[in-house]
Amino acid sequence: MGIIWLSDLSKSDIPLAGGKGANLGEMFRNEIPVPNGFVVDSRTFTNFIEKTGIRDQIIDILKDVNVEDTNDLNSASKRIRELIESFAVLPEIEEEIKNAYKKLCEEEGETVYVAIRSSATAEDLPEASFAGQQETFLNVAGGDEVVEKVRKCWSSLYTPRAIYYRVRHSFKHEDVSIAVVVQRMVNSEKSGVMFTSHPVTGDKLCIVEAVFGLGEAIVSGMVSPDTYIFDRVKRKLVEENIAEKKFMLARKDGETVKIKLSKKKSKERVLTDKELMEIVKLGEVIEEHYGKPQDIEWAFEKGKAYITQSRPVTTIKKVETDMEEVGEGEILVKGLGASPGIGIGKVKIVLSEKEIEKVEEGDILVTTMTSPDMVPAMRKAAAIVTDEGGMTCHAAIVSRELGVPAIVGTREGTKVLEEGITVTVDGEKGNVYAGAMKVEEKKAEVIQASAPIITATEVKVNISIPDAAEKVAATGADGVGLFRIEHMVLGLEKHPMKYIKDGEGEKYIEVLANEIRKVLKAFYPRVVWIRTLDAPTDEFRAMEGGEDEPIEANPMLGFRGIRRDLVEEEHFRAEMRAIKKLVDEGFKNVGIMLPLVTTAEEVRRAKQILLEEGLPVGEIDFGVMVETPAAALIIEDITKEGITFISFGTNDLTQYTIAVDRNNENVADLFRETHPAVLKLIERVIKICREQGVKTSICGQAGSYPDVVEKLVKLGIDSVSANPDAVQTIRETVARIERKIILDGNR
Ligand code: PEP
Ligand code: MG
Repeated sequence: MGIIWLSDLSKSDIPLAGGKGANLGEMFRNEIPVPNGFVVDSRTFTNFIEKTGIRDQIIDILKDVNVEDTNDLNSASKRIRELIESFAVLPEIEEEIKNAYKKLCEEEGETVYVAIRSSATAEDLPEASFAGQQETFLNVAGGDEVVEKVRKCWSSLYTPRAIYYRVRHSFKHEDVSIAVVVQRMVNSEKSGVMFTSHPVTGDKLCIVEAVFGLGEAIVSGMVSPDTYIFDRVKRKLVEENIAEKKFMLARKDGETVKIKLSKKKSKERVLTDKELMEIVKLGEVIEEHYGKPQDIEWAFEKGKAYITQSRPVTTIKKVETDMEEVGEGEILVKGLGASPGIGIGKVKIVLSEKEIEKVEEGDILVTTMTSPDMVPAMRKAAAIVTDEGGMTCHAAIVSRELGVPAIVGTREGTKVLEEGITVTVDGEKGNVYAGAMKVEEKKAEVIQASAPIITATEVKVNISIPDAAEKVAATGADGVGLFRIEHMVLGLEKHPMKYIKDGEGEKYIEVLANEIRKVLKAFYPRVVWIRTLDAPTDEFRAMEGGEDEPIEANPMLGFRGIRRDLVEEEHFRAEMRAIKKLVDEGFKNVGIMLPLVTTAEEVRRAKQILLEEGLPVGEIDFGVMVETPAAALIIEDITKEGITFISFGTNDLTQYTIAVDRNNENVADLFRETHPAVLKLIERVIKICREQGVKTSICGQAGSYPDVVEKLVKLGIDSVSANPDAVQTIRETVARIERKIILDGNR
């Protein structure tokens, strides 16, 4: 009991060392050079709470807690955490931890900085269920500090989010324990990432990206890396691209600092041939060991290679959008075809986030409704089927972006489809068929390899997952007409306001900037309209710190959009600071768009904040979404506030105009963006904006429907923003309509 060195662990030690510790141990044992470290095992924590007598007190506090009552939950969490932190770590354990840390320092011959990570674990249950719920501390040095942070990791087993999660998912608190991983942080002179096989085609091409200094520079997208492509079959380097790396990141006295590189150094090749081969070979060993292509982070410190992270590559599947089923087929369940393509695989029914582990590459994910926690499983799935939702629900938006076929709003998919059976999912027709159907290329469609079509009306794209930016930019869209930041923020470790309340505003700004940068970079110099946070209370409640979200009878009409941004002004300012930081880095391709505007005052106030935060209003695009009848009916007042564009959010505009809840499958058949009332509002806005010189666009789902786009182009819309899968079709539609307008004018 106590300390276990990584060298003594293996993958079967999850209950003792947590998933992180066990995985690192597995690599260590297989002679993969991971930085050395140790685990304070889960029995140590259990023993600590038993010996100090606090175990019974914890159980007592948790016995009657009502997790739906925010005050009750927060106060229980606070009492338990204070209780744990008020007891000293048992003397023998404190000594063991300090000795282990001392040994790490002796090995290196200097003070070592360590990363201290929690790894919650439960007997017989996968650690991943609890990922991200407990704390991590970086750049820790000194024996006392290490002991202190271990205790803090322990107490983080009782954050409000973690308690809430366990209760909602029926885990017994008594069954859960926590291991803590203490690992040396490398201070590399060179580092990077590598895919051991091509992430799209699966070909045996090893793709290595490299920069000088710490790898965070690549991961955050701050520095363009060198790229090397090594053909593992021919055993030779087939392509290399040496980038200009203007600066590097380094660790100094526990802080990450930016160091400018000389002109000469910035253009130097990062890896020698020998180093490249060393990395490639390590990648091959790891791929072989895990039996799957890997996405690896590596580093060279004092000339020695280290592997700092390895996870399976989530391959981008080729979606058969140009295919169709042959024959009749037995339809098991029907819904709305929300993301086109055909997926064939085994049904995996996922009723809560803790079950996502069972979804393997190529399975059919069947669930009530997806959430940001399910995105890793969504990436692996061959298709997605949900009981709930309409064309603009989470499952629909994210599947289209990931290029995974999806059917939403089946009402009974989780009940009718049986676990393990093979089905064929047609994400266009909205049908789930029994068995694996034969598919072949659509006969009616002529597939052309045509030259890029240039249109006067710009065709842009919507995005919400920054990691998909490169792929989405490859659609050739003329820019981003809507960057929904909600999905990305929902995926962070805690609620945005919690960062601010915890005094971590700067960290939040950094995280936001790092994510947004990926999109600006992928599209540069094409403009990206970043929409400020549109956070409905119900969707943000499950996050750590989200317990304070008010319970609203009707969140769609509640505390969200710009009205919320202006009340939680500190948060709005944090967003603006993140964008300002990127503008200062040279990303002039930003635009800012305000959601759910209903009054001119909201726009005036927001603009004043932009100016106060130093954003170059006047040089960058600044606009609003027209997604309420109110905004459409007073658009002349709104344009006077000095906006450069408007964009129709037809998902909301339709639901508010014709009183049809966009997420309610019971009324999904009544949801009609072409209802005359909606079209009248749109027509009015386009006419007035044209008179005022304000650009018009659409970013609601209707912007991906050719019939709606045809009407809008005829009305004189300036741009259309479609889902990634629809960009090409919409471009063709726009080109055809524009040609028709010209022809009609000449006839
Ligand atoms: C809309 O309402 O049409 C829109 C694009 O915004 P969201 O779907 O994110 O509410
Ligand atoms: Mg909207």
